[in-house]
Amino acid sequence: MKAIEEFKKILDKFDAKYQELADYYNFECERCGQCCNQPVPINSPFEVLLLQEYFDKLDKVVQEKIIRRARTYKREIERRVYVKPSSFLDFCRFFLGFGLEEEKLAGIQCPLLEDDLCMLYKARPIACRKYGVPAKRRPTLPPCFSSDKKIDKKVSWLPLHMEVRKLEKKYGYDDKFSMLLPEALLMFS
Ligand code: SF4
Ligand code: SF4
Repeated sequence: MKAIEEFKKILDKFDAKYQELADYYNFECERCGQCCNQPVPINSPFEVLLLQEYFDKLDKVVQEKIIRRARTYKREIERRVYVKPSSFLDFCRFFLGFGLEEEKLAGIQCPLLEDDLCMLYKARPIACRKYGVPAKRRPTLPPCFSSDKKIDKKVSWLPLHMEVRKLEKKYGYDDKFSMLLPEALLMFS
C-alpha cells in the first residue's frame, strides 16, 4: 500500500475517535471557522504530502490565491514573533518560552479558509481534525465546546500519534518535523 494511503487510514482513526467524543458530548461543530484563526502546526511530512495531493487538484487561480495568502501569513508571523516583549511578564515568558508565541500568532486567518469553510478540508492537518472536543492533555476547553454534560470522558490521542510516527520511520522519515501550515503551503509554489 502506498505510504499516503496508509496515512489516510490513520487519519480515519483520528476522525472516528473525534466522532466518538463528539457523539458522547452531543457536540456538533457549527462551522463558524473561529478555530481557523490560530496557528496550525504540522508535525508529519505525510500531512504535507496529503495537502499537496489535494492542492494540486485545485484550479490554478485558487492555488495562486492560497499562495498569496500564505506569503502574507508568513510575513505577519515574522512581524509578530520578532517584535520585542512589551512588559516584564512578556519578558519572563519570552525567556521561558512559555505561551507567548501562540498568543502572538492568534487571530491570523488560515490561508485555506474561504467563507468559513476549509478549501482543503479532506486534507486538513491532524490538529484541525482533533479540535473541538475535550482530550486528556487539554484540561481547558476549546472555546467552541458548549455542552451541559460533565467532562467525564477524555481520550488520549497519543496512540494515534505513535502510529503516525511508526509509519514515518517505516518510510525513512527519521527527523523531527515541525512547521506551520502556511509554511507547508509555500512549498507548493
Ligand atoms: S470546531 Fe469549534 S471553533 Fe472550530 S469551526 Fe467548529 S464550532 Fe467553530
Ligand atoms: S486547514 Fe482548514 S480546518 Fe485547518 S485551520 Fe485551515 S481552514 Fe481551518
